[in-house]
Amino acid sequence: MGVSEKFYDVIIVGGGIVGLTLALLLQHSDKRIALLDKRGGVETFKPEQYDVRVSAITPASHRLFEKLNVWESMAALRVSPFNQMEVWDGDGRIEFDAASVGELTLGYIVENNVMLQVLWQTVLCSKSIDTITHLNLESLERLEEKSMMALHTDQGVFTAPLIIGADGAESWLRQAAQIELKTRDYQHHALVCTVKTERPHHHTARQVFMPQGPLAFLPLAEPDLSSIVWSSNPTHIEKLMALPDVDFASVLREAFQDRLGAILEVRPRARFPLIRRHAKQYVQPGLALVGDAAHTIHPLAGQGLNLGLADAALLAELILSEYAHKQERVKYSTLRRYERARKADNTQMLVTMDGFRCLFGNDIPALKWLRQRGLNLTHRLPWVKEWIVQQTIR
Ligand SMILES: Cc1cc2nc3c(=O)[nH]c(=O)nc-3n(C[C@H](O)[C@H](O)[C@H](O)COP(=O)(O)OP(=O)(O)OC[C@H]3O[C@@H](n4cnc5c(N)ncnc54)[C@H](O)[C@@H]3O)c2cc1C
Repeated sequence: MGVSEKFYDVIIVGGGIVGLTLALLLQHSDKRIALLDKRGGVETFKPEQYDVRVSAITPASHRLFEKLNVWESMAALRVSPFNQMEVWDGDGRIEFDAASVGELTLGYIVENNVMLQVLWQTVLCSKSIDTITHLNLESLERLEEKSMMALHTDQGVFTAPLIIGADGAESWLRQAAQIELKTRDYQHHALVCTVKTERPHHHTARQVFMPQGPLAFLPLAEPDLSSIVWSSNPTHIEKLMALPDVDFASVLREAFQDRLGAILEVRPRARFPLIRRHAKQYVQPGLALVGDAAHTIHPLAGQGLNLGLADAALLAELILSEYAHKQERVKYSTLRRYERARKADNTQMLVTMDGFRCLFGNDIPALKWLRQRGLNLTHRLPWVKEWIVQQTIR
């Protein structure tokens, strides 16, 4: 028996939050979409457990989920709005609030498994999306004469005029297409964990900058539960990971300068190496990259997923407009438009985050003076604060 071959209009490799969102954005067309993932489908959200991975999502990402009619289901599981942000370092301090920019909220803290569960369930109900899970990709073939791309896998050959890589930081598709990557090791690992605090968080996201790196407390749905992200050099994080819970709780309380009182409970910790990655190209004829497959960024401003969702939104809009004009295939010039627009935005964010990291991750007295003065001054200038908030939540 020969190897099975299936034809689609678009193949998306990777069923993470970005790939699933993109599939749903495209499903309104009368095109056949395949979503391929090496893992299984639906995540199982357990109300009694908080996912150790959470994301701060901006109002723009929230609106995208609303447009896809998935937000209500996410909110029914569990989401937590944050209305204020407080950032400090030594004597410098700045606060932002949603009301000052005419928004109800600055964003939401959402557990990753909440988004994944709802998105997967919605994708599985879609008539125009085929999901193929637990598959291994073997090779990518460009069928020049037919202007098609073919993915050879252990579950047959999948062929389409457009293949999109949403397969995360280590993207198989990016490597198979021989797209080069610019990388820089941030020399930071991130420790993440859910903690219970003595005092309520009042739906404020807080971040303290220390010479070794930032420590954020993100407010979860229960008033005394926060998700922390502590970024520091790998040796320091290794030591923190090895501490017994009670010792970790007291080190954490001290580092957070007692802002929320004692740390009453520490749940399992996890760590992630932090690497800045940026693909030199986002597109080739018949191929595009979105999300972490195209870029990864330091989590200090909680932007990685938001940038990936913005990639998905623009790419889907351009693809659908081609289909609306009765184009059978998405032109390379259209993919290049996507690349130019998103690369400019993503580069700006990557560079800004590098600047922040350098300014705050440094104990040089002049820089210390500058950032403390800067934070205090910015705090007193409402229009500057407003501008910063607009830039981060747009
Ligand atoms: C500590 C930390 C905190 C963060 N906090 C925030 C935050 O607050 N806000 C924010 O916006 N971002 C945040 N981020 C970034 C965010 O987590 C990522 O940007 C986002 O999850 C990327 O989603 P993705 O769908 O692009 O990739 P992924 O989530 O990596 O999904 C990739 C998918 O592709 C599949 N896949 C991989 N390889 C293959 C293959 N060979 N074949 C088939 N399938 C494959 C995987 O199984 C997976 O389903 C944070 C990151 C870290 C490390």
